[in-house]
Amino acid sequence: MSETNEIMEGLGGQGYHLTTLDKAIGYARSHSLWPLPFATSCCGIEFMATMAPNYDMSRFGSERLSFSPRQSDLLMVMGTIAKKMGPILKHVYEQMAEPKWVLSVGACACSGGIFDTYSVFQGIDKIIPVDVYVPGCPPRPEMILEGLMKIQDLVRNEPLRRRNSEEYKQLLAGYHIE
Ligand code: SF4
Repeated sequence: MSETNEIMEGLGGQGYHLTTLDKAIGYARSHSLWPLPFATSCCGIEFMATMAPNYDMSRFGSERLSFSPRQSDLLMVMGTIAKKMGPILKHVYEQMAEPKWVLSVGACACSGGIFDTYSVFQGIDKIIPVDVYVPGCPPRPEMILEGLMKIQDLVRNEPLRRRNSEEYKQLLAGYHIE
């Protein structure tokens, strides 16, 4: 059985593989995520190391970074998000087409980190939904890659109809996102 058969659920044998459309699309999407790095401070430096040859995020099919929200499907938020920055982050998220996922990298993005102050969001999930949180100050590149792999698991197993579900619409409505 080939490596592909082991990863993608289904029935496989020599020269063939039977699976469902959901699984095939999820598998393809999970290995072609296009990240938008929203880096505001030191965690962004760890992201640069994650992209560099020692850790090489392109091994996961995610080397094509995009600074255009319309051409990306994974928002990676890395660094402190001041309250003035909040509307910009939300605007970027809204401009991304569905399906899209959010990876919150580092203590600042996840919870405000050491900046327990009036001017900093105590976690980006106050303004946009988050799929996976990576703890640490800063998280090492291995941890960022682990977060990316968790996102890949979500993408691979997401039902095609999830984005049209009432549950998902309610989640977005909770953030006043249409
Ligand atoms: S979590 Fe730590 S390393 Fe990351 S942006 Fe905040 S202060 Fe910097």
